[in-house]
Amino acid sequence: MLIEVPDSHPRAQSLHVREKLIEGFDKGLVAKAGLIAHGRGECFDYLIGEKTQHFAELATEAACAMLLLAEHPVLSLNGNVASLCPDEIIELSKAAGVPLEINLFYRTKEREDALLKHMEKHGAHEVLGVGNDETVQIEELQSKRRIVSKKGIYIADVVFVPLEDGDRTEALVASGKKVITVDLNPLSRTAQKAQITIVDNIVRTVPLMTEKIKEMKNYPQKRLGEILKNFDNKKNLQAALYFIMQRLKELS
Ligand code: ATP
Repeated sequence: MLIEVPDSHPRAQSLHVREKLIEGFDKGLVAKAGLIAHGRGECFDYLIGEKTQHFAELATEAACAMLLLAEHPVLSLNGNVASLCPDEIIELSKAAGVPLEINLFYRTKEREDALLKHMEKHGAHEVLGVGNDETVQIEELQSKRRIVSKKGIYIADVVFVPLEDGDRTEALVASGKKVITVDLNPLSRTAQKAQITIVDNIVRTVPLMTEKIKEMKNYPQKRLGEILKNFDNKKNLQAALYFIMQRLKELS
C-alpha cells in the first residue's frame, strides 16, 4: 500500500481499489493509459451510486448464461483487470471452466512476463496468450492486440473482455465473436457495441459472476437460452442511463 486509508474514510473502498491499480502500475502490469481509464470508470461509478444496480445484475445473469452455453468461451484480461481482481478472475475461470487469456494493447515482453508471473503467483495454472502459449494474428484487430492465443480468442465463439476500448470490441464483433464486456460508462463505444454490457465496477462484477455461475451451472440449457433471449442490451443500457438521470435529478 502506498498510503494508509482508514476503513472509516468515506471513500475507503474506492481508494483501496485505486491503490491496487497504482501497485499494479509500479509492478509494470498496468499501462499509463490504464490509470486514466480507471479515472473515467470511477466517475461513472459515482453516478451509479457505487453499487451493483438492477440493470447490472440482469446483464451479469445474461453474461453467465452466454458463457455457459458457449462452445469455446474465453476470459480476456488486461493489466487493469489483473491488478484489480486477480484472485477473483481465477476463481471465475475455475468455476466456469473457462480459460484465461492475457491480451494487451500496450504489449511489451516485460509487461507480458510481469502479468504471467503475477497471475501464477495468484494461483493461475494456465494463462493463454503469453509465455510459451502459441499465438496467431487476427486480421481485424489493429495494434499488438491482434496477437491472440490459438487455443483462446482465435477459436472463441464468446469472449469476455472487460474494460476494453471501442475499436477492439468492434473488431471482435466483426470477426463473428460474441462479446461480453464490463464497462462503467454506458456511453462508451465498447458498451454500445458489445452483445452484453455489464455497467458495473469489475471488482463487484467478477465475484457476482462466480456466484451466479455456480448456481446457473445446474440450470437446463433451455432455461439458460431463455435468460439470453429475454435480455436486450440496448434496453438495458437505456435503463442504466435512465437510472443515472433519475439519480442526478433527485440529488440536484
Ligand atoms: P471506448 O473506446 O469504448 O469509447 P474508452 O475510450 O473510454 O472507450 P478505454 O479508456 O480503453 O476506452 O476504456 C476503459 C473503459 O473501462 C472506460 O469506458 C471506463 O469507464 C471503463 N472502466 C475503467 N475502470 C473500470 C472498472 N474498474 N470497472 C468497470 N469499468 C471500468
